[in-house]
Amino acid sequence: MREIDITRGIIESHVASLQRAVESDVVIVGAGPSGLVAGGYLAEKGYNITILEKRLSPGGGIWGGGMGYKYVIIQHEATKILDDFDIPYESYDKGLVCVDAITFASGLIFQATKKGVNIFNLTMCEDLLVREGRVVGVVINNSLAEINHLPVDPLTLEARAVVDATGHEHDVVRTFSRKNDVELNTPTGKPLGERSMFAQTAEAAVVENTAEVYPGLFVCGMSTAAVYGGYRMGPIFGGMLLSGEKLAGLLVNACTPFSQ
Ligand SMILES: Cc1cc2nc3c(=O)[nH]c(=O)nc-3n(C[C@H](O)[C@H](O)[C@H](O)COP(=O)(O)OP(=O)(O)OC[C@H]3O[C@@H](n4cnc5c(N)ncnc54)[C@H](O)[C@@H]3O)c2cc1C
Repeated sequence: MREIDITRGIIESHVASLQRAVESDVVIVGAGPSGLVAGGYLAEKGYNITILEKRLSPGGGIWGGGMGYKYVIIQHEATKILDDFDIPYESYDKGLVCVDAITFASGLIFQATKKGVNIFNLTMCEDLLVREGRVVGVVINNSLAEINHLPVDPLTLEARAVVDATGHEHDVVRTFSRKNDVELNTPTGKPLGERSMFAQTAEAAVVENTAEVYPGLFVCGMSTAAVYGGYRMGPIFGGMLLSGEKLAGLLVNACTPFSQ
């Protein structure tokens, strides 16, 4: 075995993955719980799904549990999604279940990739491709270039739909709204900003506000709160899972895979 065999194996496999992503059915930005669930359900149905994650580790905000305590809470109504992703949980009380945050994050990541999702870590979406009033793709770069403020030009991926699953940051919608004179599907045409904590209302609103915010651009998970002015909810994750599931349904209705 030569070292360059290792190098060739890595380069060839990575390039093959990238080639698959260049014309994706859906690009999901952010590998938190909502994006992973949406991606997993769509990949299962034969969609070519790319998830971009700017950090080294996918999983978004799951890993920290609540204030570093390593469990998160999920409402009973979302346990079907845990079952679909083969994630164990324990019943707690008041219609809630407890999940080990590390099992939860690693389980979602593993099952999403097993269902066929193509996840790129250390890769950020820095802008969108927009043609004739419709989002048709993403502009991507290596996160290390961004973190180190290096003048490295980006590459692009095309997609039938792009999803902002970037959590509190709502990075995709925020940048899109700032750079372009566009009217979003919100009461003011702009992102409304997230409100203080109110778990019950927030959980319902995350699912309700999972929507197409501009032709070809969808929002799910916590970014819906920032875009539609919802409340935050802390370490309860049922809404994120249900939002991902709802998004997958919206996208199945909105676009057929390139391969069909
Ligand atoms: C790192 C982190 C730690 C958190 N810790 C806690 C906590 O300890 N307690 C708590 O109550 N809540 C925490 N939260 C918030 C809570 O976990 C979220 O409300 C929940 O995880 C939201 O799920 P989501 O699917 O909307 O996306 P998130 O879990 O927020 O994931 C969004 C992902 O998008 C990625 N991303 C953002 N912008 C881009 C971009 N331009 N290109 C590519 N990727 C991008 C982020 O790196 C992140 O991994 C945290 C969130 C994050 C991101």
